[in-house]
Amino acid sequence: MGDALISLAYLASSILFIMCLRGLSSPEQGRRGVFLGELGMFIAVIATVAKKEIISYEWIVAGLLLGSTIGTAISLKIPMTKMPERIAFSHAFGGLATALVGVTEYHKLRGLFSVATEASVHAEHGINRLSMGALGFEVFLGSLTFTGSIMAFGKLQGFITGAPVTWKGQNAMNIGAFFGTIALLVYQVIFPETAPTWMFMVMCASGLALGVLAVLPIGGADMPVVISLLNSYAGLAACATGFALKSNILIISGALDGSSGLLLSMMMSKAMNRSFANVVFGAFGTAGGTAAPTTGGAARSFNEATVEDAGAVLQASQSVIVVPGYGMAVSQAQHAVRDLAAALEKRGTEVKYAIHPVAGRMPGHMNVLLAESNVPYDSLYDLDMINDDFARTDAVLVVGANDVVNPGAKTDTSSPIYGMPVFNVEQARSVIVLKRSMNTGFSGAENELFFLPNTMMVLGDAKKTILALVSEVKGGGGH
Ligand code: NAP
Repeated sequence: MGDALISLAYLASSILFIMCLRGLSSPEQGRRGVFLGELGMFIAVIATVAKKEIISYEWIVAGLLLGSTIGTAISLKIPMTKMPERIAFSHAFGGLATALVGVTEYHKLRGLFSVATEASVHAEHGINRLSMGALGFEVFLGSLTFTGSIMAFGKLQGFITGAPVTWKGQNAMNIGAFFGTIALLVYQVIFPETAPTWMFMVMCASGLALGVLAVLPIGGADMPVVISLLNSYAGLAACATGFALKSNILIISGALDGSSGLLLSMMMSKAMNRSFANVVFGAFGTAGGTAAPTTGGAARSFNEATVEDAGAVLQASQSVIVVPGYGMAVSQAQHAVRDLAAALEKRGTEVKYAIHPVAGRMPGHMNVLLAESNVPYDSLYDLDMINDDFARTDAVLVVGANDVVNPGAKTDTSSPIYGMPVFNVEQARSVIVLKRSMNTGFSGAENELFFLPNTMMVLGDAKKTILALVSEVKGGGGH
């Protein structure tokens, strides 16, 4: 393929990547967005492997086959609730690949290959300041993304404690290591040809160490934000690779990835009413799902209700708002929820869905699940759109949500989620909460909603309870 054609293919890919991001910003266009992104990547890969600089294809084909097989197998097997872990795992290898490319390019430009390979014989030697800066940045961020993402994966998966691991002077140590590495990079940029090679390797080792050290003090509850931030680092590392390899497509796609990851992390922090600094240095949260604290050692009383009681309330309601949360994803209750809504609508009940920006474990988690069960998009309402409606609603059905319906976030200054915008569910005439126990949600905060007089707790797996509720509602009479 000629250079002009390759540049044209890269331009098409870049446009498709931008259209992909545009599509991903709305549930209706999401699938189309993913398809456009895949098409852009396909064109970019074809254009890259068609470059005349490529000497042999054996390793490329072997890598492509191995990577695609592992990637497809993991994606087919992984449940939706494990998506953040899967994304962290992919980022880890993206970061590793970027760092390895950087190390190889550094050796090539400095003429350091110990064995004369075909690539080293053809290589132009000599490293300028721009290439040194780009390579240093790439290797440092790539290494940090690799170990940081493995740590995030481990914390979510539970083989590393989800609780923040902190010690005295930790932040000072991490900040010192960071600036020490930057000083090494600055020296190498000033003296690119003469700086000792060990400096480059120390920078790489420092990136690997900082990935571990920076994620250790962050609680499991904040891992999705960390993963999104590491995604941004991986994008910036790819962008730096683009400068080092003089590849426009890497510069553009890396910049898009870096900026969208950063924006997503900021939006997630905002939806939890937390600052970035608080997420990164705040040592917030637990691994989630702890038993709720008791008052003075005695268990607090609450209204435990049966499916029949809840069914009767729903049958008597003219307006119902469903609030889905992480528990709906765990029990895979989305199809049953849609059937319940259909049964209620058949009786003339108005049904709306309230979607919190951080319900579940990743942005858009609830939208994806409900779209999967064909719930119409126009029944889904954002926090701002629906929060005033709760006071005028007969019944709220909370399906495995906890933190996003915790009124303590508005009033209890000691709550770990104080200030996070939450749904005003307690203002509805009746609240039906479906969960398995009285345990806390992800933040570890006790939820006052469960103890209010207008709240009914129907304990059990959400899917089983909703399937029983569908029979109740279908079996009951009219309003
Ligand atoms: P949550 O606070 O984690 O609570 C989920 C509840 O689901 C749990 O209390 C659990 O109670 C219940 N549950 C689990 N399995 C269930 C099952 N099979 N059937 C019924 N209930 C089940 O969830 P949330 O209200 O959706 O809030 C999300 C939390 O994640 C927030 O704290 C948010 O800040 C955090 N977070 C979200 C994102 C994001 O992007 N979405 C990112 C970072 C952090 P039982 O164990 O008693 O059943």
